[in-house]
Parts: sequence; C-alpha cells; structure tokens
Amino acid sequence: MASTSVDLLIAGAGPTGLGAAKRAQEQKANFVLVDKAAEAGGLASTAKTDQGFLFDVGGHVIFSHYAYFDDVIHEALPNESDWFTHERVSYVKSRGKWVPYPYQNNISVIPIEDQSKAIDGLIDAAVTRAQTPHIKPKTFDEWIVRQMGEGIADIFMRPYNYKVWAVPTTHMQCNWLGERVAAPNPKLVIQNVLHKRTAGNWGPNATFKFPARDGTGGIWKAVAKTVSPNYLRFGEENGIISIDAKGKTVSLKSGETIKYKKFISTMPIDYTLSITKNVDGIDGAKKAANDGLVYSSTHVVGVGYRGVPPPDIKGMCWLYFPENDCPFYRCTVFSLYSPYNVPGESHKTKTIQMSDNSKPVTDKSERPGPYWSLMFEISESHMKPVNHDTIIQDTIKGAVATGMSRGDDEVVSIYHERFDHGYPTPSLGRDDALKQILPVLDHHDILSRGRFGSWKYEVGNQDHSFMLGVEAADYALYGVPEMTLNYPDIINGKPNKERRLNREM
Ligand SMILES: Cc1cc2nc3c(=O)[nH]c(=O)nc-3n(C[C@H](O)[C@H](O)[C@H](O)COP(=O)(O)OP(=O)(O)OC[C@H]3O[C@@H](n4cnc5c(N)ncnc54)[C@H](O)[C@@H]3O)c2cc1C
Repeated sequence: MASTSVDLLIAGAGPTGLGAAKRAQEQKANFVLVDKAAEAGGLASTAKTDQGFLFDVGGHVIFSHYAYFDDVIHEALPNESDWFTHERVSYVKSRGKWVPYPYQNNISVIPIEDQSKAIDGLIDAAVTRAQTPHIKPKTFDEWIVRQMGEGIADIFMRPYNYKVWAVPTTHMQCNWLGERVAAPNPKLVIQNVLHKRTAGNWGPNATFKFPARDGTGGIWKAVAKTVSPNYLRFGEENGIISIDAKGKTVSLKSGETIKYKKFISTMPIDYTLSITKNVDGIDGAKKAANDGLVYSSTHVVGVGYRGVPPPDIKGMCWLYFPENDCPFYRCTVFSLYSPYNVPGESHKTKTIQMSDNSKPVTDKSERPGPYWSLMFEISESHMKPVNHDTIIQDTIKGAVATGMSRGDDEVVSIYHERFDHGYPTPSLGRDDALKQILPVLDHHDILSRGRFGSWKYEVGNQDHSFMLGVEAADYALYGVPEMTLNYPDIINGKPNKERRLNREM
C-alpha cells in the first residue's frame, strides 16, 4: 500500500486546519492536509437543500480578533460584492416580549413582577460584590448570581444557558468568561426601568459582514482555493483511522500511510486519543478526557418558507429563546443575511406543509416565491435528550408559538442535520483534563488544536480556530509559543492588529 512522507501533516480542513495549511504554504513547508469530508469548511460549512435554500451549521457571524485573519479572508473574498453588511439586531423572547439583547440591561420591557425580582437580585448582587471583593466564583452559576443576582438568573440566565449548553450552569466553570464581562449597573438598570427605556447595547456601529454567496461555507471554500491543491486531499478515503505516535505515522481509511515529523490534528481530541497507539501516558490522558471533557451535540433545523417574514421580526438577525415554548435556543433569520440564501423569486416549489401542521395544504402545485428562511439550533446531551423523530415538527411548531412564523405560512423546504460534536462545554473538569492530555500528545509531536482539538470554547470561533492553526504551524516549524491556545483572555481582550512576519524556512 502507498506510503507518503512529509514534514508536517495536518488533519482537517475546517478553519483550524486551513489556518495551519495557509501558514505552512507561506513558509514553503513540506506538508499535506487530509480531510475525510468532500470539501473544506468543517463545522463552518453550508448545506443546500434540494429546493435551493442554504443553511449554515447554526448562526455563524465573524468577530475577528486578528488582522492576519482579516487579511486572509480579504484575500479569499476581496470584492465588495462578495459581502453584505448588516446591523446586528438581536432580541430575547421573554415573557411574551422581545427584549433587546443583552437581556440584563433591558428589563424595562418585561412584566413588572419580573422587573421587581430582577432589581432585587441586582441590588443583592452589588452588595455581595462590595462586601466580598476577593471572592472568585467557581461555577458559572455562582458567577451569574454574583454578577446579576437570583432574579435575572432564574428568569433568563439559567434557563437560557441550559438550553444552549444542555447541562445546568452549576456543572460549568466560569474561567472561560475571562475578566471582560462587566456586571450590569443597577442604577442604570433602575433608571431604564423607571423611564421605560431600553439600553440596546450593540452601539451605532455594531455591524457584521456575511458572504453574499454560498453562506459561511463559501468563505472557507474560498480560503481553501488560496492553498495549492497539491497540498490538499479530500474524501472519505483520506479519513485518519489510526495514529502510531512513536512511529510518527498515520493510517488512512484507504490503507495508505503517511509518515510525518510533526502532526497538527484538528479532529476531536477524544477521537484522536481513541485511535492513537504507542503513546506514553495514553491511559491517563484517556481517563482525563473521559472524566473531564464534556460536549453537546447540535441539531440544526432549517425551514424555507414562501412569502415574506412576519412584520414583527423585520430587520431581526438572530433571536434567543430561554423558555419552554420551543425546543430551540436560537433562531437566525437566514434569508436576511443574503438574498442568495434562498432561491430566486421565479423558482417554483411545492408546499410541503403549512407552518401550523394541522392546517391542510390547499394548493399542491409548483408555484414561485418570494422566499424567506429561518435556521434553528437545538442542543442535545445525555442530560437533555432530544426526540429525533419529532424534532423537525417540534421546531416548526415552536416557530409559530414564538411568533417567528405564522400558522398559515407555507413551508417549502426543510433541512435537518445533527452535529455530534457541536459545543465544547466549559465543564468544571475541562482545564485540568486539558493540562493532562495536551502535553501527552505534544510530547509525541501531535499538536491537537481547534474547536474540539483543544476544546476551549472561548477560543473556538472561526477567527480563533483559524489562528490556533496558524500558531500551531509556527510552533511546529519554529517553536514559536502559541498565544491563542495558552492565553485566551489576552487574545479576547486585545486590539485587532496582529500580523505575522513572513519567514523563509
Ligand atoms: C452551532 C455552531 C455555531 C457557531 N457559531 C459561530 C459564530 O457565530 N462565529 C464563529 O466565528 N464561529 C462559530 N462557530 C464555530 C466554527 O464553526 C468553528 O470555529 C470552526 O468550524 C472550528 O474549526 P475547526 O477547524 O477547529 O474544526 P472543524 O470545523 O470541526 O473541522 C474539523 C475537520 O476535521 C475533519 N476530520 C474529522 N475527523 C477526521 C478524520 N478522522 N480524518 C480526517 N479528517 C477528519 C472534519 O471533516 C472537519 O473538516 C459555531 C459552531 C457551531 C457548531
């Protein structure tokens, strides 16, 4: 069977693997990237339904902390026409009202009994902080109560975060939040309540860019095109099925082996550990992963509708849902991001069902648009199971219950996919587990990096992931310390101006 030998092997062509490949190419390294998927993107990919609706893997918006990342994205999609710019408009559906995000600053909108509970809690929390300035909360739940009080914890933070993370906030740590999240100012909140004002925190210039064509996945396909195809190998047969750490060789599904000097893996670290042999300390690392690493799965349900969105949600980008009237924690009005996220108006489709599924479809013929779409995210874990048989209808029903669609909206396209590794949970045991696992692999020149490669949610967005890859390449090639992996707080707090020098090998 064929055998290849490289200096640097990269597993995965999601943002992390592409970051590593981009940097390795820039440095003229001898490398190859393999991905078992058919194309680049990983969790930042975009699917297209038979009816022509696009759906990302849940709401993806780029928040960049790095000029290097901006440069690469600009190189891949350089034209103004490649992007649409939107103002961030985001609300929480709470107690039947749309509360501008962030919730804690905008409680003037909620019923008076809840305002009263929230204000009581905010005052208690401010007093506690003043009396015990040196106490550091240990769990996310303690952090919430210390920052916002029991009222907002009960009304919003606990139920919402349970829906997102699929574990109670008492099971999560709070180091991942860093020092940067300020407690709400009780005086300001009370003033806002008395004057019936909302604070709307994004500010006047809070905008984001979204690719005009091909969704978020279009960005990563375009980035992949800036890497020579000679370095990239896609397809199931390129899936890595075993790693011999001492022999520095991986085996692919095709039977081929690749020998490497350094290996950057962006595969989930639990999978990497399960297929790695000949590693000192592997049993301890596996136990640490088993005991300390937690993740949740993400269901993405996409729904294409004929007609136009309800007037109430006009201009809204993404919405949060803490309550039990729907299974999803977030909904994105995906058709707002780009007209190309839905089929053109003249495209004809059949109605699959009405939004209110108890209503009959009266016209079964193929008819034109216009079209609009919603994309929903639902979390799943062993603590928060999801009924896979009913999830689609539960979601479509929830959309009506929450006012995201109307009962007589015509559903013309349905997408559903379950992503097993969706969110890397900042669990209580995570940091200790990572401290044990990563060095065991590093010691054998296996650098496990990325959203699930290094399992740090706080540096798990696209910009972070990409730079985890870039920095891993610099570490592999030159031993340069990795900032994003080791100092998430500094990265998330720093101004966006880091560029990299081009160094020849
Ligand atoms: C629901 C959701 C919402 C998100 N929202 C945002 C957002 O708003 N903004 C933002 O910036 N980011 C967001 N992200 C994060 C973004 O998707 C990640 O940053 C990014 O995809 C992680 O990149 P990665 O390369 O580390 O991992 P992945 O994207 O998971 O890529 C890993 C790659 O490894 C490949 N692979 C796996 N196993 C093997 C194997 N055995 N052999 C070969 N190849 C293999 C996979 O096919 C995949 O391509 C979100 C993610 C999710 C799930």
